[in-house]
Amino acid sequence: MTTKTLALDGPAGSGKSSVSRAVAQRLGWVMLDTGAMYRAITWSVLQANIDLQDGEAVAQQALSTAIDITTDPGNFVITANGEDVTVAIRSPEVTSAVSAVSAVPEVRKLLVHLQREAVANSDFGIVIEGRDIGTVVLPDSKLKVFLTATPEARAKRRSREVDPLADMQTIARTQEELQRRDAKDSGREHSPLKPALDAQILDTSDLSLEEVVDQLVLLAHKTYS
Ligand code: C5P
Repeated sequence: MTTKTLALDGPAGSGKSSVSRAVAQRLGWVMLDTGAMYRAITWSVLQANIDLQDGEAVAQQALSTAIDITTDPGNFVITANGEDVTVAIRSPEVTSAVSAVSAVPEVRKLLVHLQREAVANSDFGIVIEGRDIGTVVLPDSKLKVFLTATPEARAKRRSREVDPLADMQTIARTQEELQRRDAKDSGREHSPLKPALDAQILDTSDLSLEEVVDQLVLLAHKTYS
């Protein structure tokens, strides 16, 4: 593989998205948010009123949804069949349905193909973040990092992203939601969330965004200099 890649995996709320954006900007690389792609397919499935348990219908809908996603870390836009879904894919409805949609093997096959294409077409280095990047999408990536954080730290971070004044009750509800999603993502048969054997594990619970970014930029320089 000639493109410089940072395969960044981890559970919801581990800080992957903010970290990827900042690392890509510091390195002058592009970035790919693969979670946004699963969310855009999920949005399309919900729009079409498809039963989430009907894997075949979900797969058909995925095949008929054209996803277009930007890789510029300073300008994120994603469209599904030409419609801008950048904001809609963060809705609670999409968030609670996305694990069921992403467990469908045909959906994964389709998106993994698009993700590898985006890497192959990239003239820059690329930070690519998700759940199965180091294990499935780019198993040959020279740099793989798996971000972790305690459930409490992740829930606090995710709640404060939505509302900087989130109270303890909101944080506790968010923690339950994150744990439900993690259990589904880690327990699924195809490409479950897990670190690649050669991934470096970084616990971000007690680190600031800047500290995590500094460590990853250093690792990228060491790996690719
Ligand atoms: O990263 P984000 O929370 O936006 O991801 C949404 C969902 O997409 C995850 O909970 C997971 O079900 C799915 N996903 C996945 N594989 C990836 C990225 C995301 O299954 N590479």
